[in-house]
Amino acid sequence: MVALSESGGNAAPASSTVGGPSKPRAEALSAEKPPRRNDPVPDPLPYLLDFYPQEDPKYTRIAPFFDALRKGSFTTTRCEEDGTLSWPPRVTCPVCRGDRLAWTELPRRGRLYAFSAVLGGAPLGMEQDVPFVVGLIDLEGVPLRIFSRIAHTRYEDCHIGSEVELETFPLPDGRVFFRFRPAGASSPKA
Ligand SMILES: [Zn+2]
Repeated sequence: MVALSESGGNAAPASSTVGGPSKPRAEALSAEKPPRRNDPVPDPLPYLLDFYPQEDPKYTRIAPFFDALRKGSFTTTRCEEDGTLSWPPRVTCPVCRGDRLAWTELPRRGRLYAFSAVLGGAPLGMEQDVPFVVGLIDLEGVPLRIFSRIAHTRYEDCHIGSEVELETFPLPDGRVFFRFRPAGASSPKA
């Protein structure tokens, strides 16, 4: 109790409530503290720290999405029972919970519904690209609004309702991913 009051400042009253008067909380924490480990940072990083999802069919049943993307097709799943079109691709229908889903092609164009700029705290692998644009895109002709990075443009040059188109790109490790760009823009190598 005394140690917490000296180091914890205004945290002391809450600690005294939690710890109770008969067992000093600082002592209890000290006794349970596990030994400190000094493991090196693994390389490559565990996949949960990877911005891009696993694309291998060993790990995910939506691997066909990436197979199609590699060939330039943008796809998702549609429920064969009730016709529900989902984004992102699913392994079960969010409406009827069934798993009779079929892959269907999506339009490659849409319009910006909203957008913003990432100025800091970029996802893994995008730290060098700050600032960059992200946005919500209403795909042409289907009731899907999807989130994506908007490449090859500046925040100042984006407008609500402006047309964007899909762009696929390879990752250094051989995988593939997608983003959007202003319609008609060239796609210099990132
Ligand atoms: Zn369904």
